[in-house]
Amino acid sequence: MRLLLNAPAFKRAPLQVHLFEETAQNAWNLNKFQISVDTPVLEDLRTSEEELIGGGQSLPIKQKAEDEHLKKSIALVEEKPDKLIAVCPCPECRFREPLVELAKRCFTEKDQLIPIKITCPDCNNSVPWSKLVANAKSLRDYFSDE
Ligand SMILES: [Zn+2]
Repeated sequence: MRLLLNAPAFKRAPLQVHLFEETAQNAWNLNKFQISVDTPVLEDLRTSEEELIGGGQSLPIKQKAEDEHLKKSIALVEEKPDKLIAVCPCPECRFREPLVELAKRCFTEKDQLIPIKITCPDCNNSVPWSKLVANAKSLRDYFSDE
């Protein structure tokens, strides 16, 4: 797993590792081949088979964070935008801009087509690009469903 996560293609992807079983957690922590990874690791051990099959105790938490981002975005944008709008997920920041315009300003490195993270022009926090895109789509869908 660690070796895979260090492959260039996966290194650029916005991945997370979820450890659901103690055996997997032990193997991960043992790090037999001494490979370090930057990928965020979430330990979410399940005690019963039902929990393992039934899925997500941690997913609702992630969902909640995404909902907060979307809720904030809806409040900031207020009406159906004609473009995909990037909204900073930081609670105190009010930055919003069409995704295309933000991309033009932020995508400067010629060897990268899409950055993994950008720096918010207002609050200077690092924000995963994938999170901005996913939220912009959710925002568009929210107003499309009205
Ligand atoms: Zn911000």
